[in-house]
Amino acid sequence: MIGFSKLLTGKATISATLRAEQCGSMPPHLLQFSTVKRPIVVWNMTRRCNLRCRHCYLEAGEGDYGDELTTLQARRLIEELAEMRVPVLLFSGGEPLLRKDLWELAEYASSLGIRPGLSTNGTLITPEVAAKIKRSGFAYVGISIDGRPETHDNFRDVPNSFSRALDGIRNAQDAGLNAGVRFTVNRDYYQDLPFLLDLVEKEGIRRFCLYHLVYAGRGKGLAEKDLTLAQKRELVNFLIEQTNLLRRKGVEVEILTTDNHADGVYLYRWALEHLPERAEEIKKLLEFHGGCSAGVKMVNVGPEGYVYPCQFWRSGYLGKFPEKTFQEIWYNENNSLLRALRNKTDYLKGKCGRCKHSAICGGCRIRAEALRGDVWEEDPACYLTEEEIASPV
Ligand code: SF4
Ligand code: SF4
Repeated sequence: MIGFSKLLTGKATISATLRAEQCGSMPPHLLQFSTVKRPIVVWNMTRRCNLRCRHCYLEAGEGDYGDELTTLQARRLIEELAEMRVPVLLFSGGEPLLRKDLWELAEYASSLGIRPGLSTNGTLITPEVAAKIKRSGFAYVGISIDGRPETHDNFRDVPNSFSRALDGIRNAQDAGLNAGVRFTVNRDYYQDLPFLLDLVEKEGIRRFCLYHLVYAGRGKGLAEKDLTLAQKRELVNFLIEQTNLLRRKGVEVEILTTDNHADGVYLYRWALEHLPERAEEIKKLLEFHGGCSAGVKMVNVGPEGYVYPCQFWRSGYLGKFPEKTFQEIWYNENNSLLRALRNKTDYLKGKCGRCKHSAICGGCRIRAEALRGDVWEEDPACYLTEEEIASPV
C-alpha cells in the first residue's frame, strides 16, 4: 500500500515508525511502513456472496461451497496467528457477513490480541449489523464502491447495490466504526474518481483506497480494461493533487493506493521536485515498506484453507491448512516460491529486473504472470519511463 496522505503530509515519520516498532505495538496508521515481517493475514472466509462483481478475484457467487474451513479449524488458525503475533486479520470473502460464525471468530481474534478488520460489499450492514460489528471488536470496515451509482450497479451486476453500500457506510459510521471506501479502478470508470473523492469528503469517510487492477479471477479477462500507462500517470497526478487539496481544506482522510508500487516511486520522484523537505523521509518509509508484500508481510488464506502469498494469487499455493499448521507453511524455508518472494530483487526480469527502484516496488507478480506467462517478468502496468527506472533513488 502506498499511503499518499501519510507520505505527503508528514503524518508518518521514520522516528514514529521505529519508536512504535521498539515498543512492540504498531498503531494501525503506521503498519504500512513497518519493517517487521509478521504478516497481515487476509482470510477469504467464504466464497459465497450476494453480488456478482465482474472483477471478483475469487469468482464468488450464490452457490453452496461446502468445503470451507469450519469454525473449529478457524479458531485453531487464529490461535496460531496470535502465537505469531500477527497484527491484523482481515475477514474477507466472498461476503464475510454471510458466515454466521463471523462474530464469534472476530471476538476470538480480538481477545487474543489480533486486530480484526472487515472487508465487505457493505450491502448487508443494517444499523443492527453495524452495532454487532462494533461489539465484535472490529475497528475498521472497508467497503467497495466502484464509482457513480449506475457504474457501481452495473459492475456489481445487482440493482441498488450502490445505495445499499452507501447505507452500509453510514450505518457503520453511526455505530462508531471507522469506514473506508475501496475503489478498483479500470479504463471505463476511472473518470468517476472525482465523484468518489467528493463522496468521501461529503460523507466524512476517513479512508479511501484505490486498488489498481490485478488480472486475477474474474478480473483476468479485464486486463484489456486496465488503464493505459498515460492514464495511470494522469490518475496518480490527480490523486497527489487531491491529497494536497484535501489537506489544505482540513479534511481528515487517508488516501492510499494498492497493488501498483510504482506509485511509491512516482511519489518519491514528485517529492524530489515539489516537496524536497519530505523526499528523504518518503524514500526511507518506502524502503521500510519494501514494495509488494506478497509472501513477506502479506499472506492470504483461501476459503478451503489453501495459503497463498497474497489474496489475488491463485496460480500456486504455499500449503494447505489444517493439513499443515499455518506456521509450518509460513516458515517453510524449503518453499522455493516463498524464498524467491523474500529475495525478489534477485529474480526479477525485464523492466523490473533492470529497474533501480525494485527494492521499493518489485512490480505485481500476478499481472506479470497473467500477461507474460512468467511470475518474475516485468509488470505490464508499470508506467515509469526507462529513464525514470534507470535513475537511482
Ligand atoms: S519497473 Fe518494475 S520494479 Fe521498477 S518501478 Fe516499474 S513495476 Fe516497479
Ligand atoms: S503480487 Fe503484490 S502487487 Fe500484486 S496483487 Fe499481490 S500483493 Fe499486490
